[in-house]
Amino acid sequence: MSDIPKAYQPGKIEKKWYDFWLARGYFTPKIDPQRKPFVLIMPPPNVTGELHLGHALTTTLEDIMVRWHRMKGEPTLWVPGTDHAGIATQVIVEQQLAKEGLTKKDIGREEFVKVAWEWVNQSRKAINDQHQMLGASCDWTRESFTLDEGPSRAVRTAFVRLYDKELIYRGERIINWCPRCQTALSDLEVEHKDISGQLYHIRYPLADGDGFLTVATTRPETFFGDTAVAVNPEDKRYGNLVGGGVTLPIIDRKIPIIADDVVDPSFGTGALKITPAHDPVDFEIAERHNLPLVNIMNYDATMNENTGPYMGLERFTCRDRVVAELKGKHLLERIEPYFHKVGHCSRCQTMVEPRASLQWFVRTKPLAQAAIKAVREGSIAIIPEHFTKVYFDWMENIRDWCISRQLWWGHPIPVWYCQKCGNLTVSIDKPSVCSHCGSRQIFQDPDVLDTWFSSALWTHSTLGWPDDTEDFGYFYPTSVMETGYDILFFWVARMIMMGLEDTGEIPFQTVYLHGLIRDENGEKMSKLKGNVINPLEAVNRYGIDALRFALTAGTSPGNDINVGKGRLESGRNFVNKLWNAARFILQNIDTANTGRPVTLATLVAERAFDRPWRIEDRWIESKLSRLIDNVTGLMEDFQFGEAEQQIYDFIWSQFCDWYIEIAKIRLRDQPAPSPLPFLVDTLEILLRLVHPFMPFATEELWQELKQRVSGEGQMPTSIMVAQYPIANDELIDPEAERAMDSIIEIVRSIRNVRAQQKVKADKWIEAQVYGDDLLPFITAQAKAIQTLARVHPLAILNRQERKPDKTEALALVLKEAEVVLPWAGMLDRLDQKQRLTKENEVTKAMVAQLKQRLRDSDFLSKAPAHIVERETQRLHLLEDRLERLELELSQLD
Ligand SMILES: [Zn+2]
Ligand SMILES: [Zn+2]
Repeated sequence: MSDIPKAYQPGKIEKKWYDFWLARGYFTPKIDPQRKPFVLIMPPPNVTGELHLGHALTTTLEDIMVRWHRMKGEPTLWVPGTDHAGIATQVIVEQQLAKEGLTKKDIGREEFVKVAWEWVNQSRKAINDQHQMLGASCDWTRESFTLDEGPSRAVRTAFVRLYDKELIYRGERIINWCPRCQTALSDLEVEHKDISGQLYHIRYPLADGDGFLTVATTRPETFFGDTAVAVNPEDKRYGNLVGGGVTLPIIDRKIPIIADDVVDPSFGTGALKITPAHDPVDFEIAERHNLPLVNIMNYDATMNENTGPYMGLERFTCRDRVVAELKGKHLLERIEPYFHKVGHCSRCQTMVEPRASLQWFVRTKPLAQAAIKAVREGSIAIIPEHFTKVYFDWMENIRDWCISRQLWWGHPIPVWYCQKCGNLTVSIDKPSVCSHCGSRQIFQDPDVLDTWFSSALWTHSTLGWPDDTEDFGYFYPTSVMETGYDILFFWVARMIMMGLEDTGEIPFQTVYLHGLIRDENGEKMSKLKGNVINPLEAVNRYGIDALRFALTAGTSPGNDINVGKGRLESGRNFVNKLWNAARFILQNIDTANTGRPVTLATLVAERAFDRPWRIEDRWIESKLSRLIDNVTGLMEDFQFGEAEQQIYDFIWSQFCDWYIEIAKIRLRDQPAPSPLPFLVDTLEILLRLVHPFMPFATEELWQELKQRVSGEGQMPTSIMVAQYPIANDELIDPEAERAMDSIIEIVRSIRNVRAQQKVKADKWIEAQVYGDDLLPFITAQAKAIQTLARVHPLAILNRQERKPDKTEALALVLKEAEVVLPWAGMLDRLDQKQRLTKENEVTKAMVAQLKQRLRDSDFLSKAPAHIVERETQRLHLLEDRLERLELELSQLD
């Protein structure tokens, strides 16, 4: 057998095992109509994205789920993929061209798309490599990209079907326009920033007679586009003006004064200029009052022919000049400072221009109805549950979705316009003639679809829809959609709407929302603050398993996670702890192997032969069974972080700190029965239990173990296809747990005293332990107590044999035993008395409280029987302790 390295070296084994799994096809499920599959479709990261900790978190959580389900024997599919990220990719390619002094117009659309594909193919590969590096056990044979032919045909099919049902329409609406990127933006692509601007009060001369009506605006240059001034109908100041009009300065255009309820009389002057082509609220008012739209800007945010002498000027230059001219004409009443939020393009930070524009829209209200119903009726569950309300709020107030983008990179809109008859041909496949008049003079809509349109189809387009493929039939609907809570609306809600619309079925049964990653102080990570942890660096330094632990252990769904150096270090420490424990066990197998071959079969036989088991063996088996039971329940409940935490606590504080320490004594002390069968059994089960969380270290150790104990065909080829542990309730052993709890308490209490009294580590001290019915078990552990607490001589006696102390001694009254440490000069009797008196009082109070509780008829009638039983048991134990405390105290008098 090869030697196990002293320390875990993650870099040496990670790639080896990933390639091993990949080569054996473990990530590709076998379709088995008899069994229900577990299916998870990876949220496709933007192809432009650099891998950050958020991706690492998504990957880890999803990998935990799929590894666990796979180990449970379910056909498990995890589909990986990437998103073409329309605007983000286009901006990057434009920047690349700019470095060569080129614009996209210089090279033309066809060449531009070619350059974009080259860039995307490289980036797509890099992202897939990064996912592999994180251990993602997804099925690469089904890897998908939103612009691949399959998903693209799904996009065109969905579009045409919605269009035919009149759920897609073309219309003029206010959209967010980026003058630099020259495209419409979705709400998600707009960042709202606080701006310290100004509020300009402008006088509009009344059309009939003398005087002015003053309006307040932050954007004076837009007055060229005004088509009315609105006041609140209740506003007494303007009552007699409604129905009249004002004349716009400079261009001398007459517009009406109208009344509308939405006008807030307390804002500005109470008179609102209505610029319907450049403001969403004004647009709605204009629709109600049938006002015309006057667009005043070109797509690059220069002023157009509707601005008279200002035509051709850039928007902000125009503002300065308009303000100066109004001032000269005494039409500017005043300017005051004003703070407000203004939208900016999230890609290039240019100030967004709201503008009316002819765009394609999805009529979302009818789709939202079905999506609301699916969650309300429980066909889809959202975890954590409180996001359900947020979902309903949003879906009930949903607005039509602008899906056209003026970009070159994306899914072309499957609409062709006829130059002869002017009609539209909407078609999945490219038509050669107009479907209305047969003319060949047709041209395709130059726009592409919003990236989220293809993302909304991701759960079914990746499985072959619209074709009725074997994958689609077997794997759809999927099981879980796991993603960050920040894209619940933009993505999850739309997937539910489109999944139901396209397939008639829910796209997934459960939505699992994880929190966002913050730094160790709870601050958002940002390059500016310099607190970003690069996952690649973290992996190089700590290993993948440690990073996975840092991201998930102890976390809960929907809550943000603080990750810093400390968590990464504890991840690494945990892997090392497991490594060292396993190394100790493996070395002992090697020692045992020198006499005879140790196999799993011989170990199991020995375990059976050695019955009745020793108390610590019964204890570790019992505790392990409870752990498996808890972990299973937590995993089923999507509490992966808590499950991981409990495994961590078990390995660290029970298996390593106690069982292995006691086992070391037994192994040195040859006549005692060997603990090896129990060590091996517990280790093997723990490795399988931890595997979904830490796949690499567990595979390495499991293979080492397998080499040593497995006969031909006794163990599967890899831990990742081994069975996930199942709890054995028969091993649960309350007596062993009670006895070991008491033994551990005895050792701990002596260690505490030694630490408090600063006793040197190598000094042996004398001790007496008094007990009752647990005495035989405590006696059997005399050697362990001696070694672990460094006590000698040690006397273990029945409580009946207790005599008043003649020498100075420290008495510790524990839950079920007393420890007496005769220790001349250590403590004076007064101290001792004070301490025992205090403990006596505390215990008395607890007894009184419990007694009262158990007399309370309300409690007795409502509490389940086992709780009452447990409380009664607690009372007995406390009363017993009280009695013993009083005895100790009386001996001091
Ligand atoms: Zn932009
Ligand atoms: Zn035609």
